[in-house]
Amino acid sequence: MQENIMRLRAEIEAYDLTAPEQLEQFRIAFTGRKGQLADLFDQLKTVPQEQRRAVGQELNQLKQLALDKFSQRQQELEAAAQNAPADATFDYTLPPALNTLGTRHPLNLVREEMVRIFSRIGFNVAEGPEVEDDWHNFTALNFPENHPARDMQDTFFIAPSAPPAHLGSGEMASDKALATPHHLTISPSHLLRTHTSNVQVRLMESQKPPIRSIMPGRVYRNEAISARAHMMFHQVEGLFVDENVSFADLKQTVYYFVQEMFGQDIQIRFRPSFFPFTEPSAEIDITCLICKGKGCNICKQSGWVEIGGCGMVDPNVLQQSGIDPEQYSGYAWGMGIERITMLKYQIKDLRLFTENDMRFLRQFEGVQLG
Ligand SMILES: [Zn+2]
Repeated sequence: MQENIMRLRAEIEAYDLTAPEQLEQFRIAFTGRKGQLADLFDQLKTVPQEQRRAVGQELNQLKQLALDKFSQRQQELEAAAQNAPADATFDYTLPPALNTLGTRHPLNLVREEMVRIFSRIGFNVAEGPEVEDDWHNFTALNFPENHPARDMQDTFFIAPSAPPAHLGSGEMASDKALATPHHLTISPSHLLRTHTSNVQVRLMESQKPPIRSIMPGRVYRNEAISARAHMMFHQVEGLFVDENVSFADLKQTVYYFVQEMFGQDIQIRFRPSFFPFTEPSAEIDITCLICKGKGCNICKQSGWVEIGGCGMVDPNVLQQSGIDPEQYSGYAWGMGIERITMLKYQIKDLRLFTENDMRFLRQFEGVQLG
């Protein structure tokens, strides 16, 4: 009995009471009705009569010790809870943690700047499908049946059932290779659009002139990836169809855009060219931004760099989209967002746009839109 009392005293004295939830555990273990002290009081009747009084006193002292320890720690813990600051672990001497903001991708920055520039002169933004049929990507745009742009070299065609022969049977399940919208029934003539001109056709088919829209978007060509070419890139095309639209209107629009994007001192020239969907057609060149026209290896010593193509919408294209070419005329242009971005920020390798190298992307932190 004596031994049990000593062991329990040691246990009560050593008990760790530093957290509020330990108070209740302590009470149940020692002073509660089924606690260890109650056990010992029960055993008191087995103690010989002559020792019982002394042992009883010892037990009472031990009980008082346990009750004192409990109430003292209870008061201390309650006081601590009231005085503790909202977050006792917060170190007010620490320097502030810097919020690292993400950066806008340079292609997004330039696309938005292009949208803003053209919206100031009345162009709205139109969008269309990236998975397109042959009509909207080629035929309606005057591409002859045997035009080389339709060749497998340039265009990703979408086969609905069999994967392309060179991929073998199991390598690519064609129905999983490209997620397509539910409403689109893929036929063998579907393809990934090679330009955003498909949106021009869809606009002309569905709207009456005047039409004044730009079409930013992603396009695909079956090309090997290099510093100067990619199988996926971005375009902004523009279309204006109304009565009495002339090439002079086209030139003024391009002048306005180039000076807003690159600066007032940039020269522009139009170089005759050919596109199936415009007549007449021209390439748009601007002063080389690297050498300011003196000649360098970027501009191949010419002092000029090309930024896109343009022209008057071919009357056949208007006609095929349901617009009367006798009443209306229009102009269109197309520019690569990658091309504009590379010229604006003097980026020499197209692959940087898709590699997600943080050292490259961080250079565009804090770029303000024009
Ligand atoms: Zn140059």
